[in-house]
Amino acid sequence: MDPKPPAQPDAAPVNPAPATRPDPAPAWSRRQWLKLGAAGCAGLAGTGSFFSWLRQWGADAAPADIFPGDAPRGELWELWQRRGWAREALHYLKLGRNVQCKICPNNCLLEPGDRSHCRNRVNQGGTLYTLAFGNPCTLHIDPVEKKPLFHFLPGSPTFSLATSGCVFRCLNCQNWEISQKKPEETKDPRGAEYRLRPPLPPALTLDQLRTLSLFPDDLAAVAESLGCPSVSYTYSEPTAYYEYTLESCRAVHARKRKNVLVSCGSINERPLRDLAAHVDAAHVDLKGFDDGIYRKLNSGRLQPILDTLVTLRSMGVWLEVIHLMVPTYTDDLELTRRLCGWLVQNLGPDTPLHFSRFHPQHKLAYLPPTPIDTLVKARDIGRDAGLRHVYIGNVTGVPEAETTFCPSCRKAVIERDIFSIRTFHLDKGRCRFCQTAIAGVWSA
Ligand code: SF4
Repeated sequence: MDPKPPAQPDAAPVNPAPATRPDPAPAWSRRQWLKLGAAGCAGLAGTGSFFSWLRQWGADAAPADIFPGDAPRGELWELWQRRGWAREALHYLKLGRNVQCKICPNNCLLEPGDRSHCRNRVNQGGTLYTLAFGNPCTLHIDPVEKKPLFHFLPGSPTFSLATSGCVFRCLNCQNWEISQKKPEETKDPRGAEYRLRPPLPPALTLDQLRTLSLFPDDLAAVAESLGCPSVSYTYSEPTAYYEYTLESCRAVHARKRKNVLVSCGSINERPLRDLAAHVDAAHVDLKGFDDGIYRKLNSGRLQPILDTLVTLRSMGVWLEVIHLMVPTYTDDLELTRRLCGWLVQNLGPDTPLHFSRFHPQHKLAYLPPTPIDTLVKARDIGRDAGLRHVYIGNVTGVPEAETTFCPSCRKAVIERDIFSIRTFHLDKGRCRFCQTAIAGVWSA
C-alpha cells in the first residue's frame, strides 16, 4: 500500500452537493427494479440462460450503492467541462436514459443526475462521464521502493499521481482524505486555467495544485523533464480514474517511459486487459484471503482480485503483491498459509510478497498495530510455502525485513533501508556471487 502523499488540498466546493451517501431507495422502488433488470441483463448477456440470470441475481451481481441525484449541475458542470476534466466514460452500457458502468465489479447503475459509488462518474442526460480526467489532486516524486516495488527499476524515482475517488471503502484506508472524496472536493475549476507542463516551476503551491490540469501528453512530458523513468498511478485507486490512467499510460509509453499501477485489483476483465496492455509493473493489494472479511473490511470481494492477479501475470506485467496484516481481520496465520499457497500455485514462487504492518487509522484507530511477531511468523510461512522473496514493510528494527536474497546461494543481493538502497550486488539482474538470475525488471 502506497502511503499518503505529502500535500492534500482541500478545496471548497463550488456547488456543494450532499456530502453524505443518501439512504438507499425503499424496497421495490423504480431504482430497485432497474437494479433487478440490470443484473438480469448482465446474467443473460454473459451466459444466455435464465438460470444463470437467476444465479447472478443476488448480492454478487447487484450494483453497488451510489449517490442519487449528486451529479454536478449548472455552473459547476459547465466549468468542469470547459476545463476538460469531464470525459465520456469507457466500458459502460446505455439502458435507455440510465447507464451502467462496467469498469469494476461494483457495476454502478445510474439514473440521470446520479453519481457513482467511486464518486468519480456521473450520468448526465443518459451519458456516463468521468469527472476525474486530467485533474490530479496529488503529485509527488517517490522512490519506486515506496510503492512498494522491490524488483522493478530499483533506486529509481517514479512520478506519482492520484485523483480523488475509490471503488472500495476500506475501514483502515491510509489515504481516505482523497480516496473518499469527490473530485469537486479536491479540485476547483474557478479562476484562470493553469496547465502544468514543461518548463516546470520550482515548486507548486497548494492553490496551484487545487486548480491545475495535467493532461496525459503533458504528464508524460513532465515525467520526462523530471528524469523519472516511470509514472505511478497510485495513492487512491487508478481504477476509479480509469480513463485518465489509460490515456496517460499510452502517452507515457509513447515517450519510452514505464507505467506502474498501484491498485486494489478490483476491476473487470475487459477494462483490465485494455489497461494492462500499457502497464509495465503492478503492485496489487491482496487485502485478505476470505471473502467475508473482504466484504466487511473493504466492501469488496476476493475472487475479482485473484482474477486480476492471474490476468496481470498472464499478460506479462511485472507483479508484486502486498498483504496488510490488520489485527482481528487479516492476521489469521492459517489464512496467511492459504494465501501464500495460492500465490505459489497461481503466480509462481518468484512473485514478491510484502507483509505490511498495520498502524491504527481511519475507522480502525482503536486497534493496536500488528505485533512484530505476527509479521515474522507470516514471513516464515511465505518462505515455507516456497515464495522466494518475502518482505516485511512499515516496520523498523526487524532484521532483513527488506533484504533480497539470492534464491540460489542465499547471499544478500539488495539491502534496503526504508525506501533507500544500502547495498546492491546485482549485475544485469544476476547475483554477483553466483550469477543466478533474480526475477524482476532491472533496467529501463
Ligand atoms: S469504476 Fe466507479 S462507477 Fe464504475 S463500477 Fe466501479 S465504482 Fe462504479
